[in-house]
Amino acid sequence: MNYSQNFIPTLREVPADAVIASHRLMFRAGLIRKLANGLFAYLPLGLRSFRKVEKIIKEEMDAVGALEIKPPVVQPAELWKESGRWDAMGQSLLRVKNRLDHDFIVSPTAEEAFTALVRDELSSYRQLPLTLYQINTKYRDEVRPRYGVMRGREFTMKDAYSWHENENSLDKTYQEMGQAYRRIFKRCGLTVLPVKADSGAMGGSGSEEFMVESEVGDNTLILCKSQTQGLCDYAANVEKASCKADFAGIMSIEEAKTAAANTPAFEKIDTPNVKTIDELCSFLNAEPKTFIKTLIYRAENVELDLSSIPSCAKLERKKPSPDAPAVYAEVFFAAAIRGDLDVNEVKLAAILKASEVTLASDTDVVRLTGAPVGFAGPIGLTTLPLVIDHSVTVMNNAVTGALAKDLHYKHAAYGRDFEAWLVDDIRTVKAGDTCIICGSELYTKMGNELGHIFKLGYKYTRSMNVSYLDVNGKSQTPTMGCYGIGVDRTLASVIEEHHDEAGIIWPVSLAPYHITIIPIKYDGAVKEAADKLADQLTAAGIEVLLDDRNERPGVKFNDADLTGIPYRVVIGDKGLGQEVPQVEVKSRKEKETFMADLDKAAEELTQKIHKELTLLSGC
Ligand code: ATP
Ligand code: MG
Repeated sequence: MNYSQNFIPTLREVPADAVIASHRLMFRAGLIRKLANGLFAYLPLGLRSFRKVEKIIKEEMDAVGALEIKPPVVQPAELWKESGRWDAMGQSLLRVKNRLDHDFIVSPTAEEAFTALVRDELSSYRQLPLTLYQINTKYRDEVRPRYGVMRGREFTMKDAYSWHENENSLDKTYQEMGQAYRRIFKRCGLTVLPVKADSGAMGGSGSEEFMVESEVGDNTLILCKSQTQGLCDYAANVEKASCKADFAGIMSIEEAKTAAANTPAFEKIDTPNVKTIDELCSFLNAEPKTFIKTLIYRAENVELDLSSIPSCAKLERKKPSPDAPAVYAEVFFAAAIRGDLDVNEVKLAAILKASEVTLASDTDVVRLTGAPVGFAGPIGLTTLPLVIDHSVTVMNNAVTGALAKDLHYKHAAYGRDFEAWLVDDIRTVKAGDTCIICGSELYTKMGNELGHIFKLGYKYTRSMNVSYLDVNGKSQTPTMGCYGIGVDRTLASVIEEHHDEAGIIWPVSLAPYHITIIPIKYDGAVKEAADKLADQLTAAGIEVLLDDRNERPGVKFNDADLTGIPYRVVIGDKGLGQEVPQVEVKSRKEKETFMADLDKAAEELTQKIHKELTLLSGC
């Protein structure tokens, strides 16, 4: 391909909103342009690399037996109402109406569409396991699209879904997908960090995210210090992370009662104008560790059976069918934890099988606890189901809110003075906590999620009534897995990991072209040699960009560095005039140039490129 016939609008200046390297370089190297906030066009050079990411993903999906299909991007609202996500996904769903006033959405993900398809076609266990995938456009009306294609509104995702007769079969596909993901990222030249992840309201028994380290990453990763010595592999998203308890085990009600035997009865203390834990600490001259912090939460789309708690503030949503499990659009809960710890809202949401959990408004706190914010406590709290963290079970002489303005209790004891509706791990793990596996110290890094594999379980197959006949002719519901990778985000992350001051440094597997040939002046013998070399390389399957522009060599060199093409071959009169005609070769990764015989250059470069490709694919 000749440069002059291509469309590579490189730029010297950087767009004002481009704060990360990949965003800056994708603009400057002419890979993308912005159409509107969160909406990008890939230009020819960018699209070539984009297609290579897609191809690698496709090859690895096909290798594990996944089958590619192409469902529509516009999907009927009915499917999303069936699964409950028409309400649960809120404003991130782009909703549209057709001329008949029927509701549709632009697909942000496709569990519903794939499940509906399989529901209509699945009849026998003989068809299982089945894995289908697409590499297709997604739209999410992100509140704050940023960092270029890293977080766009429209983007491309590979999403795969699998259906199984049992947990073993799901586990096998889940493991194979995990391996396929590792190969995909390796072939893209990326260093990824697989971490345990939240499996959310969907329940499910396994979830792994593939992260890249990034200062601007949206995810906090909790890692074990022993990992650096290869001794422990604990790595988790903070949303999911657990740590070893810094107290002696969890107590049952009976144990707690016994432990409280010598604690004086709880009594009220005046705490005028004391609202926060810090204020309470200085007022009582005590450590936060001795307080029970109680927070009131509003949970949305709760899929727990709460019929046995008549007093709780809940709002049931209309069931899609009479025998479908109850779903509550809104439920209020209280959550208590030791004063020096923080509640992890994602863990809490998972326990409550809620789509989201947020702190209740001040008005709701007053309405539900009878006290202003800052005075909630577990003793005498009858209006809300109480979830307590494990840390509270060992607290038998604590200070806590007394459900009245300017009042707290002291000598509060779990088991004796209050009980919980649920006891679980709802603590946010922090740097410095102890690894749950090996006991070493934990530390944190920021990460960006590139992919996610997930055991969904029966969430969609039950709500959407998918069934098949098992070997005994009995109707069964299949279990399900889902597996996503963001194509755009993967591409941008490769640039984050592989660039320098001058531009992108593509791994050969994703480079838009493998080699750029730069004739010092595209004329006469130089032109002849450049054309011939380009033809030889092209015939050998190497992708060549011949810079035939009538530009100064410096301009061409800068563009070659900026666009990151792995090898640069410079051809000039001086080299050609040698006894054995020479060309100058430079790898984008290295500083030094070296001379190569013109008539051996094609073969040598072809070998180099194949070697690098083989190294990346690890075979
Ligand atoms: P995030 O937490 O970053 O919003 P997510 O958990 O919502 O991501 P998934 O639903 O798991 O993402 O989607 C699978 C993949 O799609 C992600 O791992 C990511 O690579 C990609 N992705 C998700 N949202 C975007 C976006 N707005 N722009 C680009 N890629 C995205
Ligand atoms: Mg995710």
